[in-house]
Amino acid sequence: MSTKDWSPSSWREKPIAQDVIYQDKAHLEKVLTKLRRLPPLVSPVEIDRLRSQLADVATGKAFLLQGGDCAELFDDCSSDPIEHKLSLILLMSLIILHGSRLPVVRIARIAGQYAKPRSKPTEMVKVEKKEILSFRGDNVNGYDKADRNPDPERLLGAYFHSTATLNYIRTLLLSGFANLHKPLDWSFSHVRSPEIHKAFSAVIESLQDSLDFMKVATGAVGGGERGGMETVDLFTSHEALLLEYEEALTRSDQGSTARSFSPPSSKTSTPAVSRSVSQIRVGTTSETYPHSPVRPPKSPKLTESIQNSFSDLRLENHAKKAEKWYNTSAHFIWIGDRTRQLDGAHVEYFRGIANPIGIKTGPSMKPEEIVRILNIVNPDRIPGKVTLIGRYGADKVDQFLPAHIDAVKATDHVVVWQCDAMHGNTKSSTTDPSLKTRHFVDVITEITKSMAIHREKGTILGGVHLELTGEVNEEGYSVTECIGGSMELEDKDLSFNYRTHCDPRLNFEQGLDVAFLLADHLRS
Ligand code: PEP
Ligand code: MN
Repeated sequence: MSTKDWSPSSWREKPIAQDVIYQDKAHLEKVLTKLRRLPPLVSPVEIDRLRSQLADVATGKAFLLQGGDCAELFDDCSSDPIEHKLSLILLMSLIILHGSRLPVVRIARIAGQYAKPRSKPTEMVKVEKKEILSFRGDNVNGYDKADRNPDPERLLGAYFHSTATLNYIRTLLLSGFANLHKPLDWSFSHVRSPEIHKAFSAVIESLQDSLDFMKVATGAVGGGERGGMETVDLFTSHEALLLEYEEALTRSDQGSTARSFSPPSSKTSTPAVSRSVSQIRVGTTSETYPHSPVRPPKSPKLTESIQNSFSDLRLENHAKKAEKWYNTSAHFIWIGDRTRQLDGAHVEYFRGIANPIGIKTGPSMKPEEIVRILNIVNPDRIPGKVTLIGRYGADKVDQFLPAHIDAVKATDHVVVWQCDAMHGNTKSSTTDPSLKTRHFVDVITEITKSMAIHREKGTILGGVHLELTGEVNEEGYSVTECIGGSMELEDKDLSFNYRTHCDPRLNFEQGLDVAFLLADHLRS
């Protein structure tokens, strides 16, 4: 990777959009010092695995399902909400897998999706008629109007809530939560629609049949990879907005913490030679000198020949493995629509990390700008490294997506084309204009139009990006934030269980509706 003049902190020299201003700089520095010491949340091995799965998505060999909250809240870091979110993504992925016969790569907006960009830095409090700072997400300030000053301590809160969330997800998956023999238990009982129950039971029965057959036919027991019986891969993601936080969790694959997590180099066939020059151990030499492996032997000739082979090794090691930097706060991070300026801090930070990354693209993105940004963040043209997350809106996708596809097709970049069918489709509720909503029909229209445009251009819509949640209230009712779907929610129903502090999310049933429609479209 060509990361000339790049370091995890080089973004600090660039203009930054959506910056958070902390009053107490010493407090911020203390928090960042602590964050730099804390262990990574995810490992380079996992991150590289996702990158290679996304290369399959880019070439049409897998489908990408990415979804979760607009903004996670620290208060939602609790077993029930996490289980409900996980259930919905797993159920949707099974439905898509069944319909499309493609492996599904699952990325959740979870375990770190706290920071929010805002269209205005302040908002008006009507009653008191005064401007206060906007809510920027739980890792910056509080939703409570009296708690809007950015507090650096919240960055540590973000780390520990991400850790607890991720730990619970890993625990659930390792304990058989994704076992295909269980899906009907996955918080499905509250779904009241008999049609969805029937359709879903048919999917599960058919999948169980094929998997049981495969198990008998191949003698396979379980399997941890995509679509396996016992467990599945689930990756985490968030918008990397607060660069101080992201920098503190950026680790070298040659640093002491990351070393034990690093993937073995594909070319290195000598396991006795470690990657770091300071740690060279060669075969049996360490047995001869257990406490001082590099003590020089007595014979000058032998010394010379060993020294030569050491320097050959050093050269070879350097040639083989350039240092890589991983953002270890999530497997996948993306740049938002408001922070993707070519000469800005966010693009600077993203160009140096080895993670697969997303870039939001929308009506305000010029086709030539996409090419320039791709050249900056992926100079080595790694397939699947970049996911272009289109968020045009159902009524604008025809106007803007074709030129974006043409611009990328004219290059040698192999990208994942993903449809974010939410952010171009936000509207105000007609019954309560203070509530934001989205219409199910717009979400589906943007996805199906995107698929058709790609088909016409000879490219592939590799995946979808959705804001959704499986959360329910105390009585077991799903959230009511988006209009339509098989539950036929109407504008007047929105206030019944409207819970989001940010953008409106598809609920459990609406998520399954999207999955069934996707399965149909991908099959045809
Ligand atoms: C988001 O994904 O929550 C978001 C803010 O999107 P965008 O940057 O596309 O507006
Ligand atoms: Mn959002």
